[in-house]
Amino acid sequence: MSFRNRVRFEHQLAALVGLLCLALVGATVGGAVWLERRSAVRLAEARLARLAAGMADSLDTTLRERFREIQVVAALEPLRERWGSDATTIRGVLSAMRTTAPDYAWLGFVAPDGRVRVGTEGLLEDLTVSGRAWFETGLARPNVGDVHEAVLLNRLILRSEPEPLRLVDVAAPVRDGAGRVIGVLGGHLSWDWAARVRRRLLDEGAAGTDLWVLDRRGRVILGPHLGTAPFGPARIGAMAEQGSGTFAAAIDGERRLAGFASAAKGERAEIAGGDPGLGWIVVATRAEAQAVAPVQRSVRALLALGAAAALVGVALAWWLGRRIAAPLRRMTAAADRIGRDADATTLPRLDGAREFVALSAALRSLLRRIGTVERELSDATVRSTRVAAFYRRQIEDLRQVAGTDVLTGLLNRRGFTGPAEDAFAQARGGRSGVAVLVVDIDHFKRVNDQHGHDAGDAVIRHVGALLAEAVRGTDTVARFGGEEFVVLLVGLGASEAAQIADRLCVAVRTAQIAHGGTGIPVTVSIGVAAVAPCDPDIQAAIARADAALYEAKARGRDRVSVAAASEAVERAA
Ligand code: GH3
Ligand code: MG
Ligand code: MG
Repeated sequence: MSFRNRVRFEHQLAALVGLLCLALVGATVGGAVWLERRSAVRLAEARLARLAAGMADSLDTTLRERFREIQVVAALEPLRERWGSDATTIRGVLSAMRTTAPDYAWLGFVAPDGRVRVGTEGLLEDLTVSGRAWFETGLARPNVGDVHEAVLLNRLILRSEPEPLRLVDVAAPVRDGAGRVIGVLGGHLSWDWAARVRRRLLDEGAAGTDLWVLDRRGRVILGPHLGTAPFGPARIGAMAEQGSGTFAAAIDGERRLAGFASAAKGERAEIAGGDPGLGWIVVATRAEAQAVAPVQRSVRALLALGAAAALVGVALAWWLGRRIAAPLRRMTAAADRIGRDADATTLPRLDGAREFVALSAALRSLLRRIGTVERELSDATVRSTRVAAFYRRQIEDLRQVAGTDVLTGLLNRRGFTGPAEDAFAQARGGRSGVAVLVVDIDHFKRVNDQHGHDAGDAVIRHVGALLAEAVRGTDTVARFGGEEFVVLLVGLGASEAAQIADRLCVAVRTAQIAHGGTGIPVTVSIGVAAVAPCDPDIQAAIARADAALYEAKARGRDRVSVAAASEAVERAA
């Protein structure tokens, strides 16, 4: 019996549903996780890209404003005559510029020889800045320089930031009415402004977000690990190429999602008026694990829900299985009782479903049909038993008739065979002696002739009856035909048999046999022989007795003649 055949239906159903639920929950949760994870990653990447773009925009806007502003101020008509001569006015203008743009660490006007003529708060005045990129380029055209650490101002300016002062230089040439360059208007924007924007954006952004500003070569100019290059040249090249986008990469041994915006593209490239621009790249990153953390929470919730649903499903399946199997179990128990329990004769009527109703109806009908057949069978058995008994009796009667002489009611030759063979077998075993008498009515033909055939029959019947009466119950008398009888004497030797034969002779002689009012005198002659050990069968003894009878007839009839024992031996020899 296989495992499946041994397990209850409800358990099988529950297991099946459980597996199904597991598969469904697994597939649903797996699919949901995949989808949610993907959308969470996309969402996080989009936010990071927006953040990076916001940062880049903010940097660009400020730089662009400062850049335009410095050009506008450098070209102001009313100041044209005062740049070289009216230091107080110029200082006032520069102060006003710092008021509108407090991010300026310093603003100043430098003569073409590189000597600072006017500086905000008088700082750096009379010092030379010749050789500085912003000044040298500023003599030719307006420009914005890359971030660099302050050399002189670091010591002169009081700041709240702990890091060294870093600056972005903005400069534009100042020309006289004839268009000759009479100096350079320059400003050092404190990089603290960018740090502030970064902090503000990070505060607004999602937890765990980080923000980098990289220069065109990929080195960090704002953000952690200043001066390092967190990305390889290929990545930097790709970001510069794409302008904006997202990617995921291993940073500091952790997988992080990133959104970037490059300053090398589009409007930002215009800042330097035809220059390729500063080429800054803003990269916002966030640990992927942190971005998909909400998914883990929903996975746990989904799993819990799924497990609860599966449990409910299994319980329902178990209950349903029990409900379905219960009537079948009842039917099985009832069927099992039939034939063992006398009261159990039928099967229950099931309900619950059409199939069960049909099944029980079919089984009950089957049982009824079996009952009918059984009854018919038992009737037929009874009938056949009766018939068999009838025929047994008939056969017995026929056997009786076949072995019985009709005239005398004694055994005939056939009927004599059975008892004779039994007696012979006994004699053979030496358990007892057996003797045979052959009795023949003397001159019977005359009886027939004188008194008629019926009288003859009466004489035969009478002699038969006499013989039967005269011997013991264990002895056997048979009529062998005509007026001749054979008597089987069990347990006797030849001499005892001869005595009995004599008695029989006397009994017949003295008997009064009457027929039709006339007495009929009758005598018999008797031949006697004992069964000898050498006799092959009873017939041998009968033959000897017959010979002795012939002798008795010959000697004058109405007498007994005994066959000599030696005769038997002689014959056997
Ligand atoms: P014996 O003394 O030598 O025996 O002479 P028997 O006349 O008795 O012997 P036998 O054999 O010459 O004659 C027998 C007769 O018995 C002949 C037959 O007609 C007659 N018989 C045979 N069977 C029956 C029978 O059933 N009924 C009658 N009534 N007569 C029979
Ligand atoms: Mg005869
Ligand atoms: Mg005779």
